[in-house]
Amino acid sequence: MNVFRELKVLPSYGKHSALITWEVDTEYRDGFFTVLRSKDETEWETIFTGNAETQYVDHDFVIRNRLANFFYQITVQKKTVTHKSDVVATFGPVSRECFGTANVILQDWGKKIQQGTAVKIFKQLAYNPPCPACTDADTGQKIGTTLCKVCFATGYEGGFGEAIDSWMLKASEPARATIDMEDGMGTRDAQICQVRMLAYPTLRRGDMIVDVGRDDRYLVGASTPFSVFGKLPILYDTQMELLRRNDIRYQVGWIK
Ligand SMILES: [Zn+2]
Repeated sequence: MNVFRELKVLPSYGKHSALITWEVDTEYRDGFFTVLRSKDETEWETIFTGNAETQYVDHDFVIRNRLANFFYQITVQKKTVTHKSDVVATFGPVSRECFGTANVILQDWGKKIQQGTAVKIFKQLAYNPPCPACTDADTGQKIGTTLCKVCFATGYEGGFGEAIDSWMLKASEPARATIDMEDGMGTRDAQICQVRMLAYPTLRRGDMIVDVGRDDRYLVGASTPFSVFGKLPILYDTQMELLRRNDIRYQVGWIK
């Protein structure tokens, strides 16, 4: 029986860490958790033990400016029963050569991109439960999310994770454009620009980027890979929407 779901690794080059998240069946949430890590799926080391965890940050993900391709497995113990999760790899099954070359390209781009704009990435907490303050308990429908201070318009409890340091290269300044509404019901006007960013962490629609110098805040839209080596993405070109100053997301706190 697999009691684990949604086991994912989210690598972040800028923060030198990988975020491992998972969900577990309700009756095991108060169990005793172990996070195991391996370089080759044969020898495993225990890197965390503890209670009531749904995520773990592995700070050994970047060692001497190189990304490490690790395998992870989670176990949960309750009374005398222990369950194991599937094994998940940071980059999936790629060859050692491919991985090494991708690392070299990534480091080159890392230097270039650090001459751009310093940003903080706020990942939307998409693995959190629905926001209790703006979700109708009976129907599960989201209501009034754009004013909600519990989820900052994300619909997920807590809204955003902690800030991740990174950089972006702006390809254009924000310009007025017509975009599709989030709910698919028509279009609206927005300030849109294109940026290039490292692929770690992977950006998803709804994440937020903060320009550290100006505190301008952007909502991440569609991304397309700009550079890929083997199956490993290096850079993404991403469309971003400049949020208006009265947007609730300007109330997400961060420290320079
Ligand atoms: Zn909410």
